[in-house]
Amino acid sequence: MTKRAYNFNAGPAALPLEVLRQAQEQFVDYNGAGMSIMEMSHRSKAFEGVNDNTERLVRELFGVPDGYSVMLLQGGASTQFAMVPMNLLADGKTAAYVNSGSWAKKAIKEAKLIGETRVVATSEDARFTRMPDLASVELPDNAAYLHLTSNETIEGTQLASFPSTGAVPLIADMSSDIMSRPLDIASFGMIYAGAQKNLGPSGVTLVIARDDLLEPSRPGVPTMLRYDTHAKSKSLYNTPPSFAVYMVGLVLEWIRGKGGLAEIDRLNREKTGLIYRAIDGSGGFYRGVAESGSRSLMNVTFRLTSEELEKKFIQESERAGFVGLKGHRDVGGLRASTYNAVPLESCRALAEFMAEFQRKNG
Ligand code: PMP
Repeated sequence: MTKRAYNFNAGPAALPLEVLRQAQEQFVDYNGAGMSIMEMSHRSKAFEGVNDNTERLVRELFGVPDGYSVMLLQGGASTQFAMVPMNLLADGKTAAYVNSGSWAKKAIKEAKLIGETRVVATSEDARFTRMPDLASVELPDNAAYLHLTSNETIEGTQLASFPSTGAVPLIADMSSDIMSRPLDIASFGMIYAGAQKNLGPSGVTLVIARDDLLEPSRPGVPTMLRYDTHAKSKSLYNTPPSFAVYMVGLVLEWIRGKGGLAEIDRLNREKTGLIYRAIDGSGGFYRGVAESGSRSLMNVTFRLTSEELEKKFIQESERAGFVGLKGHRDVGGLRASTYNAVPLESCRALAEFMAEFQRKNG
């Protein structure tokens, strides 16, 4: 039995052991093809099957309605920051953005390079320790879309619900909470996510978009950066990241085997519940960064009473087999990323470690 770390990495992140074993089994010879997935033509029947399977599972698990395209692209979510305005922000229109933290800021920066961009809600005054209140968000009359970040990976905040935007397409960067809970896709124009947290290895980006948004509303968008290019060719316009697409398919099968998104959501709540309880029950020894209504079920951010103690916590946690608990370099502190594939046992072990560390240092 391989010794597995308690892996709390923020992304790339833990993958289900069952999935890794299955990939290992099929690594050298995929289903009797005499070669691995990586050695196969992306035009082969076998790979077409892999590609179709991954798309079908996305549709099934999310209940994607008719009239939406599922795309598996490259360039990470960071490329989507540019592709969204390049394709959807016509001259004379305004792109509306929610500024909820580090990743929203990056999306806003790209949109500003392309066209008229307006921040319609922000929690910067609270140093992004909560999500902005979106209940009464006002959009410009000529809004091309409203863009938000469902989970801020660095600050550890998450939207519990989404605003209704009427005829204005709602677009969400779901990189760090995709497939972590059930979602009503029909209320979104588009969602996108890099795979490397909840869906698989890095190298592939999932985009789900309503078909009427696929054709660019701006002239001159290069072929590879147009959504319709990829939607029309089932994400096989050019050579796809074939192994990553295959791995995402295995992860989605694993999610289905767990009982789907409702069960994954329940499990995620149980997992983070253990850690948040360790924080809340510590009498101030640990302090959660995010305000309670905005706490993320994916990235638990917390602080100790001094940076010195935080350093000690990280050192001792590493010795005890925990990986990835250091907070993002921009914000410091500690962060436990508890994505779908992080086992309950890892979270229980962390909660126990936290209690023990407090006993010794409190
Ligand atoms: N958005 C969010 C919310 C993220 O967490 C990340 C990656 N950490 C990104 C965007 C950027 O993703 P990528 O590295 O795939 O470009």
